[in-house]
Amino acid sequence: LTSSPKSSGLSIIHIAAEMAPVAKVGGLGDVVTGLCKALQKRGHLVEIVLPKYDCMQYDRIHNLRALDVVLESYFDGKLYKNKIWVGTVEGLPVYFIEPQHPEKFFWRGQFYGEHDDFRRFSFFSRAALELLLQSGKKPDIIHCHDWQTAFVAPLYWDIYAPKGLNSARICFTCHNFEYQGTAPGSELASCGLDVHQMNRPDRMQDNSALDRVNPVKGAVVFSNIVTTVSPTYAQEVRTAEGGKGLHSTLSFHSKKFVGILNGIDTDAWNPATDTFLKVQYNVNDLQGKIENKIALRKFLGLSNADVKQPMVGCITRLVPQKGVHLIRHAIYRTLELGGQFVLLGSSPVAHIQREFEGIANHFMNHDDIRLILKYDESLSHSIFAASDIFIIPSIFEPCGLTQMIAMRYGSIPVARKTGGLNDSVFDVDDDTVPLQFQNGFTFSTPDEHGVNSALDRAFNYYRNNTEVWQQLVQKDMNMDFSWELSATQYEELYLNSVARARVAANRA
Ligand code: ADP
Repeated sequence: LTSSPKSSGLSIIHIAAEMAPVAKVGGLGDVVTGLCKALQKRGHLVEIVLPKYDCMQYDRIHNLRALDVVLESYFDGKLYKNKIWVGTVEGLPVYFIEPQHPEKFFWRGQFYGEHDDFRRFSFFSRAALELLLQSGKKPDIIHCHDWQTAFVAPLYWDIYAPKGLNSARICFTCHNFEYQGTAPGSELASCGLDVHQMNRPDRMQDNSALDRVNPVKGAVVFSNIVTTVSPTYAQEVRTAEGGKGLHSTLSFHSKKFVGILNGIDTDAWNPATDTFLKVQYNVNDLQGKIENKIALRKFLGLSNADVKQPMVGCITRLVPQKGVHLIRHAIYRTLELGGQFVLLGSSPVAHIQREFEGIANHFMNHDDIRLILKYDESLSHSIFAASDIFIIPSIFEPCGLTQMIAMRYGSIPVARKTGGLNDSVFDVDDDTVPLQFQNGFTFSTPDEHGVNSALDRAFNYYRNNTEVWQQLVQKDMNMDFSWELSATQYEELYLNSVARARVAANRA
């Protein structure tokens, strides 16, 4: 943890609420780990600061130990003690902050969804900066993610740079503008930000609810670099329909705002070495993929009568963004088309969870349909490996990772053309796209006809064109969705920003 970067490398600190595999709710966790690993490989010193949740996967943290220090950080006008832990996750050094606060912020048995999330994460953001200040670190880049650690940007410039933690440029990545974490303005005072200074239209005031503050807006305003997770999504959020109220802020700050397509962690997602799978396989040995299909069918009690019966997979949080009504439709359409459908998903929205429990029960003993309504890392790997087709009918999708993971496992995506799906899935029947990029089936209109137009074509290709299908599977498995290229883009943004700061400092 005390090692220094190679002479040309940067010191980069990520402050985040998720990190795969120890604390993952969705794509954010994958991105933090994947991007950090790729940056580390490129010679930078990368460190991560996370909350010490009670519900983390502790068996995936190596050498976890408490430091012999007490970190005091400010909240509600007082100083609270924090215990600081360090450990290694996927080869990356991680600090875990455990607040000794009576409200037991990270002892809740879940990562998010608590009534006081704003307090929990504004406390964490401040404690993370306090840790950097007190440990005497001189980071070049502090990179925060989503609304939970968006507080870092205003806290840094308003409080911590004046205190002497002033070596860094701030990068903020928004993984989904749907979640902005707004709260009544007064709540901002707890973490020490000046409500009157911040609750202004050009700072943190929410653009529609004027008595509320908006952490994501604050990070857009206060960061040096603002990114989101795909070029198409970066365009969409600049429009009134896509920006969830922040389009004018993003347009105003568009010079520092860019969309970079996420990669996937190609070590964690590799069918040739994946220990979750019944049989490992690679692009030259697709028999292994078939064996995984047979094994999953047995495991789930699905019919194994016809090895060629196509299997459609879907792995997702069941929230409106993901097109839940279209997922439901795709289940019934797959049945009509004579395929099998396996859904792995869970919903934080009670009525959606209930609706899908109803469908799951309806098909409980069905030969061809299975819905598994929980979060299950191991099963997710098996479904990517076993399925032939993978459906992602999102209403909007900042980046989406499952389409890329599916391709790496030889499962062909059927996807709506939106956000990052539009930047990674290209229709096999679209002549305007060069052949080497055509890798799936897409549709534009988010309705049942749209789904049918792509899903039906996928079934046709699969059934009537075995050789072409196999070539498509091989092409998709060979596509490069690694972090290499995207990490280079982040590196370039970091370096440019650091260079600009140095020029400005020399002028002063
Ligand atoms: P989002 O971040 O909006 O949830 P992404 O496609 O970016 O969507 O990332 C989702 C990640 O979470 C993928 O790695 C996917 O495999 C995983 N995932 C989603 N739901 C489940 C589940 N029920 N069980 C296991 N993994 C899941």
